[in-house]
Amino acid sequence: MRDSYDYLIVGAGLSGLVLAERLGSIGRSCLVVERRNHIGGNCHDRKDSNGLFFHVYGPHYFRTNSELVRTYLSRFTEWNDAKYRVNVFAGGTYWSFPINLGTFRQFSRNPAATEDDFKAYLARSAVPIASPANSKEAILAVVGVELYEFFYKGYTQKQWGRPAEALDASVTRRLPIHTGLDERYFRDEFQALPKLGYHPMFEAILEASKADLRLETDYREVLPLVRYRHLIYSGPLDEYFDCRYGALPYRTARYALEELSEDKVPQGGFVQPVLQVNYPGPEPFTRTVELKHVTGQVSRCSNLVREFPAEYKPGESDPNYPVPGAESDTLAARYRELAEREPGVTFIGRLAQYRYLNMDQVVGAALHTFDKLRDRQP
Ligand code: FAD
Ligand code: UDP
Repeated sequence: MRDSYDYLIVGAGLSGLVLAERLGSIGRSCLVVERRNHIGGNCHDRKDSNGLFFHVYGPHYFRTNSELVRTYLSRFTEWNDAKYRVNVFAGGTYWSFPINLGTFRQFSRNPAATEDDFKAYLARSAVPIASPANSKEAILAVVGVELYEFFYKGYTQKQWGRPAEALDASVTRRLPIHTGLDERYFRDEFQALPKLGYHPMFEAILEASKADLRLETDYREVLPLVRYRHLIYSGPLDEYFDCRYGALPYRTARYALEELSEDKVPQGGFVQPVLQVNYPGPEPFTRTVELKHVTGQVSRCSNLVREFPAEYKPGESDPNYPVPGAESDTLAARYRELAEREPGVTFIGRLAQYRYLNMDQVVGAALHTFDKLRDRQP
């Protein structure tokens, strides 16, 4: 570590590393400070003791419609095309999901039901709500009470620790609802995972950046030790301001890895029918992920990661999800106002913007921020 840099970058996640690389490419010096013991932020992945990949902080399915983002990341990794297939397990049955004609055929116990039958069902069942005000209304307005209660109500309560009516409509609207047999969870044109995993991709970005890196360090520890011209902050928005207006709500989760040796894996090589299984029922976890379905790895072993949602406690857990809702929006807006007025600091990423952003949106935003920073002397 030197004693002076152009930029001090807080967080070695996607936002921090992409900006470090871009700024490094025009000769600016950066120190990246990360409080975890690894780079990659929440996208971090590793191999288990059988050499099989798993995502340490929950499943990260890369997808994008942005040519810019895809071209940029492709400088640091090759890709494996991935079909992200998801089922719901409830009442002893695997259900096709997100809701589509296949789900309706199962639900109505009529394997011959047509798209027109499903559309007629939706027309009868959908609750007439002109502008849904929350996550419950957003789904009721499309599929009605029956399918909402079966697929969304319990899952959402478990995932967020609050009912769907307390969440912004955008949360449940993330998922498509198809009237045909389309089972895609995402509609983006490009859906793929880095061929060798996320970690080597992040290492390549870091190497290209020529930035210095300090792991296991809170940025506040280095403030007395280094001089810098500009701060780039990708940590939690409220934390930067010492939570002066009160803490923003976040949701977190525990991710339990189960390594599965040969004797625990059926002949076909998989323990569940598809990549991800969602559990809307009384189980304490929301989903199980068997990543081998999309990594292209061939093995008689496998692994599962179970996700147990939990209340976020600062210092004890990681703030994974901002919680989009009326109350948090108002509070976040007050912090964003402070952030705009903070001299010499740029706030980037999911935590510092307090927005439920996917990886490609975060990369796109980091590239855009670079365009703004490059013409300014730090
Ligand atoms: P982060 O990855 O959170 O990085 C911020 C870093 O800053 C962290 O490593 C943190 O330790 C560090 N930091 C914070 N405060 C300090 C401090 N004071 N000092 C030093 N370091 C600090 N996106 C998708 O596109 N597809 C998915 O399938 C998907 N699934 C997800 C599943 C889960 C469970 C979660 C939580 C997110 C998911 N995302 C997904 C979103 C994705 O994780 C984010 O878009 C992306 O990781 C955001 O990158 P970031 O750099 O902004 O934040
Ligand atoms: N959801 C649900 N049932 C499911 C899957 C999702 O009710 O089986 C709701 C839930 O509120 C969730 C939201 O839809 O938070 C978005 O789902 P997604 O799978 O995109 O969640 P993420 O991957 O962001 O955790």
